[in-house]
Amino acid sequence: MKKDMDINRVTRQHLQMDDFFSGGLTPKAKASEPKPQHQDHAVLANAAPELEKIADEVRKCCKCGLGSSRTNAVPGEGNPNARILFVGEGPGADEDAQGRPFVGRAGKLLDKIIAAMGLKRSDVFIANILKCRPPENRDPRADEIISCFPYLQRQIEIINPEIIVALGAPAARTLLNTNKSIGQLRGQFHEYYAGLGRPPIKLMPTYHTAYLLRNYSQENRKRVWEDMKKVLNELGLPIPETPKR
Ligand code: URA
Repeated sequence: MKKDMDINRVTRQHLQMDDFFSGGLTPKAKASEPKPQHQDHAVLANAAPELEKIADEVRKCCKCGLGSSRTNAVPGEGNPNARILFVGEGPGADEDAQGRPFVGRAGKLLDKIIAAMGLKRSDVFIANILKCRPPENRDPRADEIISCFPYLQRQIEIINPEIIVALGAPAARTLLNTNKSIGQLRGQFHEYYAGLGRPPIKLMPTYHTAYLLRNYSQENRKRVWEDMKKVLNELGLPIPETPKR
């Protein structure tokens, strides 16, 4: 039956995807000499309580219609002094149910990518442009982004990451204030401006993990991995070996 065949194909793809971002990419050796570690990452001493204040506001927020359709708001989570901030589009069903970002299928793949980078989820911070799930996972509306984006802007100011990884077009476009496609944007560093008097933060757009799951190809996975290697190199972190397969 067609449906069974599709399920088999999807299962096989997922097993291969698992392999690519876990077994095949377990940190083993340096592919190239990393840059020396930055010494100037300014860290806010009370970042954790400041972020918790924002999370409390988000959980009570009713600035747009999503406030009445959500089960849980999803403020974001992770290391308050993270060097890398991952930003997605908005919560899906699993995130809405748990109040935590990237805990569904796309999240499991993000976990694998983070592990393949030689990092733990607790090393990084993970947030979204929208803090509440749009019904049926429809695309975020402009008015929702306008209401919600200031929460992320404040989170970025507090975390002050060295690098932002924008997952997918909505995140990259919102943070860079552009209409360019993710294909045009990904693969090179851009600059996110966190406010007057603050140095710009390097931003690497890449494909969203949900897109990767839907558009499974060796090429797309390699592109994401190339983007993450640039992030590691910029941070002076060791770059795990590229899989031979
Ligand atoms: N997709 C997103 O963009 N964010 C999540 O938190 C989960 C899935």
